[in-house]
Amino acid sequence: MVKACEDAAPVWLESPTNPALELADIETITAAAHEAGAYVAVDNTFATPLLQTPLAMGVDLVVHSATKYLAGHSDVLLGAICTTDDELFAVLKNRRDLMGAIPGPFEARLVLRGMRTLHLRVERSQANAQELVRRPADHPALGEVRYPGFGGIVSIVLAQGAIAADLLTHKTKLWVHATSLGGVESTFERRRRWKAEAPTIPEGLVRLSVGVEDVEDLWDDLRTALDGCVG
Ligand SMILES: *Cc1c(COP(=O)(O)O)cnc(C)c1O
Repeated sequence: MVKACEDAAPVWLESPTNPALELADIETITAAAHEAGAYVAVDNTFATPLLQTPLAMGVDLVVHSATKYLAGHSDVLLGAICTTDDELFAVLKNRRDLMGAIPGPFEARLVLRGMRTLHLRVERSQANAQELVRRPADHPALGEVRYPGFGGIVSIVLAQGAIAADLLTHKTKLWVHATSLGGVESTFERRRRWKAEAPTIPEGLVRLSVGVEDVEDLWDDLRTALDGCVG
């Protein structure tokens, strides 16, 4: 692994990955990257700082799309970079000062307000997600359910591919077909509808962002839609 990191400047990780939901062994990769002289950045958007703390695992930089769980209400675009490394901080701050890429005060306020309920929203989204992955295991419309065991993002793969997945995303009443995620409302998206999505992602994969609604309402809506995607 050290060899694989040689010549790298940053080693960039996303864990869990979007939308395949694979996990990286952050500690092992970070140790190898450091040995090879690279620094490590982790996109921690899916896990949130409550479920995964990469800085405590030796990672140099953590990035968050604050647009997602941190703000939590699908009404702001903002990002955050976190580091405990003084040198990296100075480089980033200098770049920000020169380029002027600072957040607007209103956006900052929305994220700050959202973060006051982050623990409640993450707890509920995760509980809902864990319940939902238990239920459809043997539904005939489903080929696969991917869930890393924590967090509120689940990916399901429709057995009959793109057409069935498109059908699903248009058959629900509660789940909204949308690209963004991490809000209080449940959203989902067939990722391969975008040409830029990696061809390694199955055509029939639908990424669910499980919100904080009543899990029975979420399941009823999803199951009814899945029932309409068989055959
Ligand atoms: C949405 C997202 C981004 C991009 O964030 P924006 O706030 O939309 O610019 C980056 N990484 C992950 C994992 C995301 O979900």
